Order: sequence, then structure tokens, then C-alpha cells
Amino acid sequence: MWIVSERVRSADLRKEERVVHQAVGRPEHDYQRLSCSDGPDDGIHVPGQRLCVRGDHVLGEGQRWCTDCFPEKQGT
Ligand SMILES: [Zn+2]
Repeated sequence: MWIVSERVRSADLRKEERVVHQAVGRPEHDYQRLSCSDGPDDGIHVPGQRLCVRGDHVLGEGQRWCTDCFPEKQGT
């Protein structure tokens, strides 16, 4: 599957926190649609690198799975 990480504001400003989404399709017009996107205009603008990973991919420090894209990964 393809994943894209989105930088989000963390409670601790010294730390970088990233939410990992599942990418849907190819980026178009600098937008990457996500599994949790609401409509055609929703997504990440100019996303970072897309990564192709396996289903048992383990996230690095400061990363967490998007609760909407990966409900099955919550609580793990
Ligand atoms: Zn998501």
C-alpha cells in the first residue's frame, strides 16, 4: 500500500509529529487524495514522499496511523 505522512502540530513544539495516511491514486495538481478524504478537493497539498510499504509496516518514532485511514491499526 502507499502511505503519505502529514506533519501535524504537536502539543510539544520541540517534537515533530506525523500522521500517516493511506494514499489513494496518484497525486494530481499537487494534491494527494487520501483514504480519509471527504471529496475531490480534500487531501494533502504538495505531499512529501509517498512510500510503498507492506501491511505490517511499523511506524517510526513520532508517527501515528490516521484513525480514519487505518481503523484496524488503532490500539496496537
Ligand atoms: Zn487519513
